[in-house]
Amino acid sequence: MANSQPSVDLSPQVSDEIRQTTCYMCACRCGINVHMKEGPDGKKQVAYIEGNRDHPVNKGVLCAKGSAGIMQINAPSRLRAPLKRIGPRGSGAFEEISWDEALELATSWLKPIREEAPEKLAFFTGRDQSQSFTSFWAQGFGTPNYAAHGGFCSVNMAAAGIYTMGGAFWEFGQPDWDRTKLFMIFGVAEDHDSNPIKIGLGKLKARGAKVIGVNPIRSGYNAIADEWVGITPGTDGLFILALVHCLIKAGRIDLDYLSRFTNAPVLINGDPKSPEFGLLLRDEDGKMLVIDRVSGKPTAFDAAGVKPDLAGSLRKAGITHRPVFQHMAERYLSDDCAPEAVAERVGISAGRIRHIAGELARVAFDEAFEIDRPWTDFRGERHEKMVGRPVSFHSMRGISAHSNGFQTCRALHVLQIILGSVEVPGGFRFKPPYPKPPEAHPKPHSKVTPGGPLDGPHLGFVHGPDDLVLKPDGSPARIDKAFTWENPMSSHGLMHMVISNAHAGDPYKIDTLFMYMANMSWNSSMNTGGVMDMLTDTDENGDYVIPHIIYSDAYSSEMVAYADLVFPDTTYLERHDCISLLDRPICEADAAADAIRWPVVEPDRDVRGFQSVLCDLGARLGLPNFVNEDGSQKWAGYGDYIVNHERKPGIGPLAGFRGPEGDKVGRGEVNPDQLDRYIENGGFFVEHIPEGADFYKPWNKAYQDWAVKMGIYDSPQPYLFNLYVEPMRRFQLAAEGHGDRQPPEHLRDRIQATMDPLPIWYPPLEDEAVDLEEYPIHALTQRPMAMYHSWGTQNAWLRQLHGRNPLYLPTKIWREKGFAEGDWAQVTSTHGQITVPVALMAALNENTVWTWNAIGKRKGTWALDEEAPEATEGFLLNHLIHELLPARGDGMRWANSDPITGQAAWFDLRVKIEKAAAPAEAQPAFPPLKSPVGRGPENLAWKVGK
Ligand code: SF4
Repeated sequence: MANSQPSVDLSPQVSDEIRQTTCYMCACRCGINVHMKEGPDGKKQVAYIEGNRDHPVNKGVLCAKGSAGIMQINAPSRLRAPLKRIGPRGSGAFEEISWDEALELATSWLKPIREEAPEKLAFFTGRDQSQSFTSFWAQGFGTPNYAAHGGFCSVNMAAAGIYTMGGAFWEFGQPDWDRTKLFMIFGVAEDHDSNPIKIGLGKLKARGAKVIGVNPIRSGYNAIADEWVGITPGTDGLFILALVHCLIKAGRIDLDYLSRFTNAPVLINGDPKSPEFGLLLRDEDGKMLVIDRVSGKPTAFDAAGVKPDLAGSLRKAGITHRPVFQHMAERYLSDDCAPEAVAERVGISAGRIRHIAGELARVAFDEAFEIDRPWTDFRGERHEKMVGRPVSFHSMRGISAHSNGFQTCRALHVLQIILGSVEVPGGFRFKPPYPKPPEAHPKPHSKVTPGGPLDGPHLGFVHGPDDLVLKPDGSPARIDKAFTWENPMSSHGLMHMVISNAHAGDPYKIDTLFMYMANMSWNSSMNTGGVMDMLTDTDENGDYVIPHIIYSDAYSSEMVAYADLVFPDTTYLERHDCISLLDRPICEADAAADAIRWPVVEPDRDVRGFQSVLCDLGARLGLPNFVNEDGSQKWAGYGDYIVNHERKPGIGPLAGFRGPEGDKVGRGEVNPDQLDRYIENGGFFVEHIPEGADFYKPWNKAYQDWAVKMGIYDSPQPYLFNLYVEPMRRFQLAAEGHGDRQPPEHLRDRIQATMDPLPIWYPPLEDEAVDLEEYPIHALTQRPMAMYHSWGTQNAWLRQLHGRNPLYLPTKIWREKGFAEGDWAQVTSTHGQITVPVALMAALNENTVWTWNAIGKRKGTWALDEEAPEATEGFLLNHLIHELLPARGDGMRWANSDPITGQAAWFDLRVKIEKAAAPAEAQPAFPPLKSPVGRGPENLAWKVGK
């Protein structure tokens, strides 16, 4: 019989052309192949998006968000033209205006304040990836009031990592996925570093490596963990320090590693009468001192041949100066840190804590291995082999977004270090440009000169009270009060305090609030309703308390309605971007890498990339570095800036294809064809670290030399890991009365208590401020894999995955309160109340409830129907969280932030729950906003190709 099966084309040609760029459906920055087809009008249209198999980040993997990017450029919620407010602020009534009109209006507001008082501009950006550029613009403007979103996201993780070991997770480093045998994650949201973690977990599962997930909620990565530890929120530090206790007590720590590569052997001044009590001892050259095991004498830590002694001490003038390690042992061997002492509070049995500590030690030491790869350390000692310790960790916002988060993140880094599993095979590895010691980062600058630029970068790392950003009278120099006694080490600023401080005129009033990609009147703020009131509040003359608000967004988000002037941004497929080594690059542990975005399609609306708008606005304002000598505009757009800007001679935003021939790497002259070379190369550039330079990076001579050649460092800068963070001790000393710069009286005790140079745990500040009998339940949010913040809301495909968000309750609360499927609950905090749908989830800490972040939407936004589930059943926990803690006995209210870094303490929230009659829609419900883009069609359909 003849074969009559139809012939099916299994690989139909889906496009005429592939354009390779970088995804921006989340902050992970995967490489994508955008398939294009010619449309009826002869213009290319996006037909399909797939992962780029050659790309270092995702190696072809694409997530649900990434493939849904096609719906982003078809989203009805895209803004279409610059908007000028014509109704009351907060109504959503706008008229479309020309770009020239919009930029002139902005110039008319900004020019006078730049001439008189540049600090009256507060310029804050959200989750964009162009912070080296936006900060450069703000520096040129001259305002000290600039930061991005790190302060309300994960600054605790980043700052603790940098202060402790010169880098942290995600963009800073990654596990050695190919060699790790035990991987432990703490509080990891599923959208951050999404594809690399999924690829890495796949590798671990294929090799039979073990994964332990520590998270009150067992979803996402925790759902596939071999062991799930459903910890009580806010107690991770206590748990980690109990692990440290067990490891030190059992002698299962890497003493050789500690003595060579950390400040464990460095001597601490032990003289309680000295103004330097608790600081590290140094020689005349300022070098930290250790006791040399061979000579028994105090010696500079980096002297050739020195063998630092963890057990030594220095006796001088009747005072004994002991090394950091001895202080650590004393503290962490104390019974307070024993598993039995913490088990009840953390919600993990003492036996289980001991078991996990035992597992960490067994894998780190009993499964240690060696690689035959000689290397030479910074003291000149040659090592024939590299020692692998196959234990690694990853963590993100879960442990970070607490008021004790900085110390908790520090504790986690200390745990990694005592196991000797940082920058070794099988452990945690830095990604260039990290590691970088804290001293290699700038200090914060705030000197304002009317009509001139700021005196240096806004953000940085402080090393003591002298680096605080205070005015001569001691008041905060920045609107967010970053780098003050309230939060001295706030390296990323405090974006979540900008609006409330500006509204209160504390520390001063501003004129213009200028924001980009930050949905501050909705899911990016605490106290959402209060923030809306602050943005619309008027003074006794009827003028807005915050006189001008400029906002840029690509979509009709909730924040748009609160602006006076809106710059419509492009989508990520219509713009230039650089994912730069100067910013948040796409490097791997084995390679330096960066990438671009470029307009794979032309916008079909009157919109412009925000960074290109800043080039134009910067020129209109005459900002230095934005105008030529003749006053003309210097950068035609962001693409022009990316290619032609040099931060230092030979160093620009992109490291690849530099020099006139495009053959220079890292350092090299400007190459006018650089963007074309990136496009030819798939949208990215990679330079691999030579073998032998690829581990032990902070101490490896070969890596240090390579980093200098690449332009990452100007000169080699090996350093020791800071188990003991000396700058914190300097703040404590000030609190004890030493030095000229003194904290206000009401903060002395808090600084003394929280800024311990060795990691400690203290209860989350909200636990201390509220009645825990009345508010016994922890309430959290998680971000789903399929939606990144509010960005996916307008996306017709992703909405189908997360169109509503119940509050998940654990079995204990579910039963105690008699909930049933379809019920609603009233959830109350000290600040507010919401009424929301609930669902049962068994794999959850028994005292914790949670929901997905940023699903709830305000009516009239995102071009959604007013009856869309996001607007009727979706909700935010933000209504329950205040940016200030309840009043203390003295009437003062502290920020709801980490007292060290100012990180927003989103996850400290305490609530109570009762069953409630189902309302018509989730409460609170706000009146609909008028939409500047109308409402999207019932069904979103379009045709690509002819
Ligand atoms: S993880 Fe997904 S959304 Fe994020 S950059 Fe990669 S493909 Fe895009």
